[in-house]
Amino acid sequence: MAGVFDIDLETEDVSDTEEDFYDDSVTEPDNVQKEEVELTSECVNRDSEKVGPDFFELLTVLGKGAYGKVFQVRKVQGAMSGKIFAMKVLRKAKIVCNAKDTAHTRAEREILETVRHPFIVDLLYAFQTGGKLYLILEYLSGGELFMQLEKEGIFMEDTACFYLGEIILALGHLHSNGIIYRDLKPENIMLNHQGHIKLTDFGLCKESIHDGSVTHTFCGTIEYMAPEILTRSGHNRAVDWWSLGALMYDMMTGSPPFTAENRKKTIDKILKCKLNLPQYLTIDAKDLIKKLLKKNPTQRLGSSKADCADIKGHPFFKQINWGDLVNKRVEPPYKPQLQSDEDVSQFDTRFTRQTPVDSPDDTSLGQSEELTFAGFTYVAPSVLDSLKEGFSFEPRMRPVRRHNISPRTPNRSALFKCSPSSC
Ligand code: AMP
Repeated sequence: MAGVFDIDLETEDVSDTEEDFYDDSVTEPDNVQKEEVELTSECVNRDSEKVGPDFFELLTVLGKGAYGKVFQVRKVQGAMSGKIFAMKVLRKAKIVCNAKDTAHTRAEREILETVRHPFIVDLLYAFQTGGKLYLILEYLSGGELFMQLEKEGIFMEDTACFYLGEIILALGHLHSNGIIYRDLKPENIMLNHQGHIKLTDFGLCKESIHDGSVTHTFCGTIEYMAPEILTRSGHNRAVDWWSLGALMYDMMTGSPPFTAENRKKTIDKILKCKLNLPQYLTIDAKDLIKKLLKKNPTQRLGSSKADCADIKGHPFFKQINWGDLVNKRVEPPYKPQLQSDEDVSQFDTRFTRQTPVDSPDDTSLGQSEELTFAGFTYVAPSVLDSLKEGFSFEPRMRPVRRHNISPRTPNRSALFKCSPSSC
């Protein structure tokens, strides 16, 4: 049985972390064309922004998640007209088939509404039609972090240090809000237009860890999953620090620490195999990976009440000024090469070449099923603020597309897999 921690997050020291942050990503150049908006009670009234699918023009397919497609869209009516967003579409009928899926979808909507952080995707609107649920998210034009890793093969330690640092701040913020992310894996880590980290996909997060209880749901992608999730012995926020360790190993060696040809063998390795660390890693990197990949969660770095503070204090991060990092004052190692706000060159052409179609689905569900989705609709306070402040939009421009980025291959490199002798 995994340890049950007494989590008292009220006492956490957050002095130089999330509380100071500001989002400087919205600064705009002087030459941006501005549109003046007349302020009327109607346009600043929350209820007047009754957004629906018609408010968004479909531009491109960006990807496909467990529950539906994600499109790049342009808002064509109301507040922030002309601005580009990502639109996640989920079919209600598919979701209600499974009670767990329903809970996941609600969790995603609720978590994204609650959580605001520079390194977590922003939810702008949520609405529904008879048959579908829609989440309108900020468009993360930098694509998935691991597209970048694909290109580089492995990251140098200072590059990994930057990305891991931003991820730690995001996870620490979630934990301090009583949320376990549980699904930290390459596909869920995206980059914004400046190259900063943004965690996405909150469908598998588990809320309410404040009471110190453990949860018992099987979830996530296997290679980055903590042993206590795989043994279903109950888990808590320490699972996120295991995944961070697996991710760090992947960034620095080219593949996750425990991989095999099938799911069962991978699980066996995660549970039983000794960790194999390549010689070329620095002492600090090796030490941190070892401490994050402790199979016993009570011995894992980050499992104490201090949570992320213990990890931030590790010598691997000695160069990092955490205040600068959370305030985006540290230059990202790679700046995505983008031609415009609409640029989709950082996304897989398997998706971007598809014709974007959001097929109409006005299936009406039964009354009790429909109740499941009551209260899904949402308008972000920032949208209402933008109405008050006026807004800007860039003149329409077509992106120059590049199609030369290879998609991530599952076993990017089998170079440092755990050898049979270490099991
Ligand atoms: P998800 O359903 O969240 O797993 O999303 C599926 C895919 O859509 C991801 O792997 C991304 O490539 C893409 N995606 C999700 N959210 C966004 C976003 N906010 N901006 C750009 N692309 C996104």
